[in-house]
Amino acid sequence: MTLTGNLFIAGQRRSSDERFQALDPSTDKAIPEPGFAIAEPADVDAACEAAEAAYAIYSNLPLEKRARFLEAMADEIDSLGDTLTERACAETGLPEARLTGERGRTVGQLRLFAQVVRDGAWQGVRIDNADPDRTPPKPDLRLRKVPLGPVAVFGASNFPLAFSIAGGDTASALAAGCPVVAKGHPAHPGTSELVAGAIMRAAEKTGVPTGMFSLLNGTSHELGTALVSDPRIQAVGFTGSRKGGEALMKVAAARKQPIPVYAEMSAINPVILLPSALESRGDALAQAYVGSVTMGAGQFCTNPGLVLAMQGEALENFAEAVGDAIHKAAPQVMLTHGIRQQFGAGKAELSAETNVTLLGEGVAPSNECQSSAAIFRTSAAEFMKNPSLGEENFGASSIIVECDDLDQLQSLLAGLEGQLTAALHMDEADYGMAGKLLPVLEKKAGRVIANGWPTGVEVSHSMVHGGPYPATSDPKSTSVGTLAIERFLRPVCYQDLPPELLPACLAGQGPDGAIRLIDGVWKI
Ligand code: NAP
Repeated sequence: MTLTGNLFIAGQRRSSDERFQALDPSTDKAIPEPGFAIAEPADVDAACEAAEAAYAIYSNLPLEKRARFLEAMADEIDSLGDTLTERACAETGLPEARLTGERGRTVGQLRLFAQVVRDGAWQGVRIDNADPDRTPPKPDLRLRKVPLGPVAVFGASNFPLAFSIAGGDTASALAAGCPVVAKGHPAHPGTSELVAGAIMRAAEKTGVPTGMFSLLNGTSHELGTALVSDPRIQAVGFTGSRKGGEALMKVAAARKQPIPVYAEMSAINPVILLPSALESRGDALAQAYVGSVTMGAGQFCTNPGLVLAMQGEALENFAEAVGDAIHKAAPQVMLTHGIRQQFGAGKAELSAETNVTLLGEGVAPSNECQSSAAIFRTSAAEFMKNPSLGEENFGASSIIVECDDLDQLQSLLAGLEGQLTAALHMDEADYGMAGKLLPVLEKKAGRVIANGWPTGVEVSHSMVHGGPYPATSDPKSTSVGTLAIERFLRPVCYQDLPPELLPACLAGQGPDGAIRLIDGVWKI
């Protein structure tokens, strides 16, 4: 499939004289091809105008049609096959197996959202029947959730498929009935173009308005800023750096009409090794830890950047096994030159800290486009004294922190910033201690894990991929799993509307099959 490098605006391809090249991160060289069009302000305007026009139609389509569109997107992405995964490999340096898995996850979440759309429970129907005999008379009140309007979605560098053009934010926004204007990540424009083409074909096949999706590309912050500033955009989905997320939050807050920004930004995902578990299976924990830290060159928002354990012989044995395992870790290509440089600088800063030791580093890179993993060690007292040790160093880097006792561990946890996950490794003998830690863990993190590592996020109904700031900008939501649809909906109450004017899901006693709250009682 030949790439054109064009933008997609409401079903039309648009070229531009201003172009940029896709780079191969394994060589830092441009991929030889004509390059990708850079969106101009007029393109942002056209995409937002088309999205607003499409909103009126798309948000009112029969749910079956919306669901079929999501499934058609999944089918079209599937049918891109190796063309898509090979292009994503070339642009990200990620291995093919990882991208094949990510493609599966991307189409799986689109199909899951199609089921959610059909089910209709997301409309959140509540009906309080009128009581004219009450004093004062009680009105007829009916509530449903409606889509917010056009959503700006920022593709993530570290998930070129599952969190980019047709990824979780796009799937949940389209499922909610919101058109999407996507800002492709400049690190993988060819992958974005292939996926955008699949979305357009799905729209044509299922007859949804083409304005409900556009893809804009560019290489400067001006594009993202213009998109978030556009008055027709009503919400933002973002995965990336804390700096970028915070910049976009400021733009959104400074608008005449501020809008919600759902930004997933930065976390170090503490993992606690409780004494009995550490004693009984320290070696296995060490192998699994190094595997989790180094997976995908550590470029996961759920990378275990912090391991906490009580001092003692079991911790020393664990540390020795970690040191042995990390020395064997192969160097890996990172997503972009910038990410690699930032990771290298982060490792150098940690190495220069006086009370932090480098426990071990992976095999040295064979060229300047690779990076090696690193694991550090320090004391809880030092960690609590030095806030920079609690900052994310995006990549295969982690720090083991030795605590004197449970009190010190609890104090350290209480001082952490918000996290996506917190994990506990424990045996039955550790349950008492675990029970004491749970209150602080649920306060700090969106997902609490027992005897597992944070990397690997299931796309399902009960998943929370969120958490308090700065893990995300909105602790009440998730960006993975079906609850993500809630971010792009708002409730509207209809008081005493004649049945003829009520939306279909509120006429009568609500939609068949979907759970709804009638006069305070949940019914199906
Ligand atoms: P990024 O710099 O935050 O960029 C993400 C997207 O936001 C890009 O489309 C970028 O496009 C745009 N953007 C960034 N800053 C902006 C600003 N001030 N105004 C408007 N738009 C802005 O993330 P990245 O390129 O993926 O990687 C850089 C760093 O982010 C990494 O080294 C890592 O620290 C962090 N990161 C974290 C996660 C995580 O899950 N925790 C994931 C990925 C990256 P333009 O550059 O074209 O404006």
